[in-house]
Amino acid sequence: MINLAWGGLTNGAIPTSRLVDVSGREDYLEPTAAAQWLWMRTDLHAATGVWINPAPGSSCNRSRATQDAFYASYRSYLAGGPYAPVAAVPGTSNHGWARAIDITGYEGNDTWTSPRTGRTYRVNLRVWNWLLAHAHEYGFDWATGDSSGEAWHWESLTPPGTTVAGDITGTVKPKGTKFMKHYPNTDWLAAKKEGRPIAPGTRLRLLKSNTNKAQNLIGNPGPYSIAPHVAGKGFAAGDSIQLTLKFADAKGKESTHYPVIGVADAQGNIAISPSFLRETVSGNSVYCDVEANKANKKTGTITLFACDAYLFN
Ligand SMILES: [Zn+2]
Repeated sequence: MINLAWGGLTNGAIPTSRLVDVSGREDYLEPTAAAQWLWMRTDLHAATGVWINPAPGSSCNRSRATQDAFYASYRSYLAGGPYAPVAAVPGTSNHGWARAIDITGYEGNDTWTSPRTGRTYRVNLRVWNWLLAHAHEYGFDWATGDSSGEAWHWESLTPPGTTVAGDITGTVKPKGTKFMKHYPNTDWLAAKKEGRPIAPGTRLRLLKSNTNKAQNLIGNPGPYSIAPHVAGKGFAAGDSIQLTLKFADAKGKESTHYPVIGVADAQGNIAISPSFLRETVSGNSVYCDVEANKANKKTGTITLFACDAYLFN
């Protein structure tokens, strides 16, 4: 059994200020695991056309109280009650360390037998074979899932705090420096020049740039969701940063700003994972800035993770 404890925290009691919401629906993971998960699902989608997601209901970080309830159900099943999946002894689940994720999207009508345990699973082999071949490149491992017969249970083995390729980490000066914008994940050089439609399911990537002509052109008007993920550390308790989602017209004129403030906890950590649900018009660009509060007492470091964006039409 691999010990996934981190940060001197208590299993099942990790404050969400230390975590990243990877779905906009309160599915929290440790920040490095979150970044790797977001890249893994994007790359899997590019290879297979399938999106994997956190399964509904406490599939990522899990509180001690929820684990207690899951374990009670499992014990009841063992005693002859209604079916309940295997649940770890409270205080030992890797969900309590925010480094395990139960996924959905791998399911299918193919059968696959594990050479390690001899267990047979019902899967979509195209997705499943991609996961078996590539998940380790993103730090995800399935050994614990296999040992308990759970195809859905995956764990991040990457040490927390590791900077992941595709992330941008930078120092936010306590003077309100703007320093990041979003560009599309692919062909960003072309995107900078002429813009690029953002199709449903498109991921945005964060790039450091001096230009203020971010032209992430949205191809279609309509309802739109964008979920940037930001984590900060090294701040003083009560310091704050502001994440602002901005829209601009085709000439680069900024029209609408949506600010969200994140405040540092007692340990100086900040996490912001808002989901912006907005209506867009054709030709608008979208990007984000992060600024530190001029009144901050300390200069912290922030990581902006890749950003999920969806058009609903
Ligand atoms: Zn699990």
